[in-house]
Amino acid sequence: RIAYVNGRYLDMRDASVNIEDRGYQFADGVYEVCEVRGGKLIDMPRHLARLQRSLGELRIKEPMPLAALSVVMHEVVRRNRVSHGIVYLQVTRGVARRDHGFPAAPVKPAVVVTARSLDPAKGQANAAHGIKVITLPENRWPRVDIKSTALLPNVLAKQVAREAGAYEAWYVDRDGYVTEGSSSNAWIVTKEGRVVTRSADAGILAGVTRAVLMDAFEALQVRFEERPFTPAEAAGAAEAFVTASSQIVMPVVAIDGQPIGDGKPGALAKRLREQFHRFAVFS
Ligand code: PMP
Repeated sequence: RIAYVNGRYLDMRDASVNIEDRGYQFADGVYEVCEVRGGKLIDMPRHLARLQRSLGELRIKEPMPLAALSVVMHEVVRRNRVSHGIVYLQVTRGVARRDHGFPAAPVKPAVVVTARSLDPAKGQANAAHGIKVITLPENRWPRVDIKSTALLPNVLAKQVAREAGAYEAWYVDRDGYVTEGSSSNAWIVTKEGRVVTRSADAGILAGVTRAVLMDAFEALQVRFEERPFTPAEAAGAAEAFVTASSQIVMPVVAIDGQPIGDGKPGALAKRLREQFHRFAVFS
């Protein structure tokens, strides 16, 4: 496998970063994960726009023009011959003597890009069975709108989910409403057939998959409400699903051990999964 590291394409075995990289010491960086499908990158303009925003919020300089970053990401996908999978991009503030505040002298942000193949059959099998979710109290910092590599709460939540035999953990805020998953956005479909998800400016990451799906609703004649929902409402809903670039639309069939709907993947979730790429940008 080949990785891009600070200007060079290297065999992964030879690829390394400085031990004083602030990403390593402080998780002082941001990232993006894009889907690769048929060798094409999915929804790059939205991912690059979100990256730019995350960098701006952390006051990390753009390491190179976004168009150049896009070229690097395509090149890493090509060199690894990824047809179906993901490409990962990480930008950190760079290398400096360890000190919490920003380095006094400007440092060059560090860029790493990797790509890997995923077995499409695995995703299809997950989607065919549906996944289980558990709920956990929200314990992340309030700036989850920034796609930061500081993911320790998410790491712990995912592990709790796995140990409970579930695939994803949904965070629940102090008011009792679901925010999002540890690595996905959360959705339900009401018995009246309305799709519900929380507003992107209220304690969640503005998912690219979420945005593309929302733009598709009109063409697909799907009714939609942007509002928070509780785990109890989810348990009584007709359907539930999660979205993420690496999952597209993944049906949820149980929440905290309670089946949702008839306990099988919902018809609308299945339809949205099938239709999604009609509305995606391929590059
Ligand atoms: N929320 C969180 C916390 C995530 O980590 C992700 C996946 N990166 C998402 C939502 C979904 O975002 P996207 O559709 O852009 O992959």
